[in-house]
Amino acid sequence: MKLLAATGNKHKIKEISRILSPMGYEVITPAEMGIDIDPEETGLSFLENATIKAKAFATLADIPVLADDSGLEVDALGGEPGIYSSRYAEGTDADRVAKLLKNMEGQKDRSARFVCEVVMIFPDGKTVSAKGECKGTIAAAPAGDGGFGYDPVFYMESFGKTMAELTEDEKNSVSHRGNALENLRKKLT
Ligand code: IMP
Repeated sequence: MKLLAATGNKHKIKEISRILSPMGYEVITPAEMGIDIDPEETGLSFLENATIKAKAFATLADIPVLADDSGLEVDALGGEPGIYSSRYAEGTDADRVAKLLKNMEGQKDRSARFVCEVVMIFPDGKTVSAKGECKGTIAAAPAGDGGFGYDPVFYMESFGKTMAELTEDEKNSVSHRGNALENLRKKLT
């Protein structure tokens, strides 16, 4: 069965595909369907934003649509950058990582988590959502060149590495998106 991933992010599409293709889903990108929209994320939670994205794409497709919204919550920063993770600073991922490290200067508590909400909407309107989390700490300096976003400063004690130093399989086995998709898979079966 075809499934539209409501994102243009290649890393997310790869993760979604790896986890849902064993269930028989063929993951299609918006570009493959000639869809080029970027819905405004006006929600106040990951779930609201994922639902906004899923609904916007679902009006343009007659196959199931899967959207996610995710971000990094840092305890010492009161949960920031949270839903504003992709807009935390102008520029590139490196600029956002630099701002995060600056704001974390002198902070003893470096605990953080990645959070992801996924929402799937079927053509009949049926909606299923699921949440996933992944705990770690904010490293003193970036390391690794895999993944994207805040991966180079997201240190995982269990691996002794940052998320950007993990293989794709290792990241999928512990990531917030992997956990959310796994929880979604359980709800669907
Ligand atoms: P979204 O595309 O609106 O869900 O924004 C998610 C933002 O959170 C991204 O732009 C990244 O900054 C951050 N983020 C989400 N998932 C990850 C991840 O797996 N690794 C690193 N950063 C992530």
